Amino acid sequence: MTEVPEAKNILGVKKDLLLVKMLKEKEVRSLPKSFLFYLREQLKYEKFVKLGNRYIINSQLPPYPSPAFKQFLKVGNAVREGKTAPSSVHIAVTNACPMDCWHCSNANREDKGDLDLDVLKETLGKLQDMGNSLIGITGGEPLLRDDLEEILSAIDERSVKMLFTTGYGLTPERAQKLKDAGLFYAVVSLDHFIPEKHDKVRGFEGAFQIGVDALKLFKETGFYTVASTVPSIEMIESGEIWEFVEFAKDLGVHEIRFLAPIPTGKIVGQRELRWQKDQAMEMFEIHKRCNADREYPRVTVFGYIEAESFLGCTAGTFHMFIEADGTVTPCDMIPLNFGNIYSCGIEKSYNRMADTFRNPRYDCFVRAAVTLIGKAYEEEGKLPLSREKSLEIANRVKNWKMSDCFKELGMPYTWTEEELKGMGKKKKAQGCMSAINEGPCGGKKDDGPAPPDDPEVETGGGCFGSLSKDDMK
Ligand code: SF4
Repeated sequence: MTEVPEAKNILGVKKDLLLVKMLKEKEVRSLPKSFLFYLREQLKYEKFVKLGNRYIINSQLPPYPSPAFKQFLKVGNAVREGKTAPSSVHIAVTNACPMDCWHCSNANREDKGDLDLDVLKETLGKLQDMGNSLIGITGGEPLLRDDLEEILSAIDERSVKMLFTTGYGLTPERAQKLKDAGLFYAVVSLDHFIPEKHDKVRGFEGAFQIGVDALKLFKETGFYTVASTVPSIEMIESGEIWEFVEFAKDLGVHEIRFLAPIPTGKIVGQRELRWQKDQAMEMFEIHKRCNADREYPRVTVFGYIEAESFLGCTAGTFHMFIEADGTVTPCDMIPLNFGNIYSCGIEKSYNRMADTFRNPRYDCFVRAAVTLIGKAYEEEGKLPLSREKSLEIANRVKNWKMSDCFKELGMPYTWTEEELKGMGKKKKAQGCMSAINEGPCGGKKDDGPAPPDDPEVETGGGCFGSLSKDDMK
């Protein structure tokens, strides 16, 4: 058995020096200086992890140095020309799963069998040619597929490989085979530190032990291990969330990913399950505190990364999802249909979607579309929604304001006034940076309309639950 490297958390001066080194890569040199300052500031609540000879900023990015990291950097320059690419892709290779989680984003799908291996392999190659640098294999439970190693082996080094699993069926031999197939990030669902509570939310007796054993085994085999958690409002309010962090620390995971409950799949339309401001503040506190402390695992609160002040929502532009029946959607959480890899292929489906979304949105698309998606599901009775309904919803929600990261990069904003019809009245010109909540901004100096008047489209909050930029200082 190969020796497993010890992970180190990188903070302070070492983190700054590493950042400087990363920014010397030739793909970054032509980026605006102001963007680099912005980036340094945005990363102040992040902690890097060193595992072997690789550094991980967080598990949603390829490790540095690596060919996948170089591929990721190339996108930065293309963005300034208004180009998008499916930089990160998650693929449900099967819908089969022994568990029945309360928040499953993949629920309410017809069972049409697993994704065909040959079609999948061809699609993976095309995705990499299109600029992909991160491929996440998910389900259902992907470990149920006997050919998972073959799927992973079809991805070359231009993309980092990630697996989302409950751990069901993992053995030491399987873990080693996955390692040999080039898997780097092993993400295991773990929703609680009390076995009965975890089993209950996962709808499967023994799920807790399966998850814990999988995390240990993945770590022993040399993977970067991530515990993926969807904390409920109750878990945050009771303070159990802090006990969970201690538990994950003792377990020795490298990172904890905290995802907010998103009203899709099993909980489609159920807006009351989303975090509100108090819970979001508490989660932000965990993100900050753990990442400032060398002794704790890296923490990624997704809502912080996907907030307006940072990346925002890249669904349909730089992120996409492929369902187990081949349907191409903007994100694991957005059941909107833009084509199918069996019928129109990945390029046509992605281009259709990217032409609709065009710019990364300032906050979670699902949050804005929760009412529309809920109603459409009532009408159509299955997910993903039909192509006609999907287009109607995407055009009604509109990506009317970009996140700061893409503004700072200088991405041109391409929604026209005509397309933004139905939005509120245009504000007096103030410039984006001072009127950040007022309207769409392509360059930093643009101005635009106020939020949409459509009562069925939400305009605030993001998946993080109503935190403003001031809250997140
Ligand atoms: S912000 Fe919401 S819709 Fe956008 S990529 Fe994240 S989960 Fe998906």
